[in-house]
Amino acid sequence: MGNMDIKKTTDQFTFNTYKRNPIVIKKAQGSWVWDDQGKKYLDFFSGLAVSGIGHTLPSVVSAIQAQSKKLLHTSNLFYSEPAALLARELCQNSFAKKVFLCNSGAEANETAIKLARKFGHQNGGERYEIIVFENSFHGRTLGALAATAQPKFHEGFGPLPPGFPVAKFIQIDSVERLITPRTAAILIEPIQGEGGIRPSTRAFLAELRALADKHNLLLMFDSVQCSLGRTGDLFSYQTYGVVPDVMTLAKGLGGGMPIAAMLGSEKVAGVFVPGDHGTTFGGNPVCSVAALAILKMLSPKMLKNVKKQGESLLKDLEPLARYSFVRELRGMGLMLGMELTIPGAPFVEACRKKGLLINCTQQVVLRFLPPLALSDAERRFALKVLKQVFEHVS
Ligand code: PLP
Repeated sequence: MGNMDIKKTTDQFTFNTYKRNPIVIKKAQGSWVWDDQGKKYLDFFSGLAVSGIGHTLPSVVSAIQAQSKKLLHTSNLFYSEPAALLARELCQNSFAKKVFLCNSGAEANETAIKLARKFGHQNGGERYEIIVFENSFHGRTLGALAATAQPKFHEGFGPLPPGFPVAKFIQIDSVERLITPRTAAILIEPIQGEGGIRPSTRAFLAELRALADKHNLLLMFDSVQCSLGRTGDLFSYQTYGVVPDVMTLAKGLGGGMPIAAMLGSEKVAGVFVPGDHGTTFGGNPVCSVAALAILKMLSPKMLKNVKKQGESLLKDLEPLARYSFVRELRGMGLMLGMELTIPGAPFVEACRKKGLLINCTQQVVLRFLPPLALSDAERRFALKVLKQVFEHVS
């Protein structure tokens, strides 16, 4: 690579879709990442919840290494062991009877949207509408974007596919009002992520379940950001105690490898038939063994750590939430957000300079998605940095 300037080269040759932090990440291990200048950072954002447990985990790396010597790819016109094992593992640990393996959160949601439309088609004909929620985020492809009820993401990309009426979050009347003979499903993030770390409630999800049962709709949970241990259970629907018909997963599933899944209950197990849907890379053997290693790591001990660290972190953050520029502290497990009354970007930058990576969403919500294997010492380090940054701003 010689003396190539990585930042300049990236900006010159890639589309301008991301506002990047001005550092080049060179390596990562566990909860820590290093830039190309050798500076070390605690990743309190877990690579956007993808390196959910931690970075470059030895069991994931060795699974990938062993698999890559045997089989990198086989098309979905053939069977392969890793995809079979992963689909079985996901079903045996959840409500699901069937899994569709794919490559990203948006793709898993597109699959769910198609499944809901086909379900509607088979159950009463002209039923294609999927009720979604204000402030939701489901991805950037056109169907997932149409389901994303945040107008700023739609600007310039119309016309979007129709059929996504928008209800108010945690307001059951507004959902009821939108149900018509055209409704096929309800799609919700149990905890809104990009929308600003907004947890729904058990009562609301239970009401949605009852409405879905009453009208024969599918209840679909986009669990792309809020599952795989984030809430202290394997899946967030278990934390809430409300079982969906469809659930999507991505981000942390492959521990850094690109893999996603749509899971469906008995009710939808027979909806798709050959030719209805597909994806070339879905169930890739190398990605599938990484996901199997991740599921193995999400043991009761790991989930207990999430609950313990989550409770401690919330307690630790409470004194900071008393600053006049903090509106609210909220979240569950190791998925916490602190809404400010002032822009969050300077906080993100100040933390980074002191060796702590956090993120800000919706301009004013500081987002904390620390690694699930977080230790007490790492949590204390994060708090020390945050305290210094908050003191400096006040
Ligand atoms: N759904 C939720 C809840 C998400 O948070 C995201 C990404 O942030 C997506 C879907 C889209 O996932 P991907 O970027 O893998 O397409």
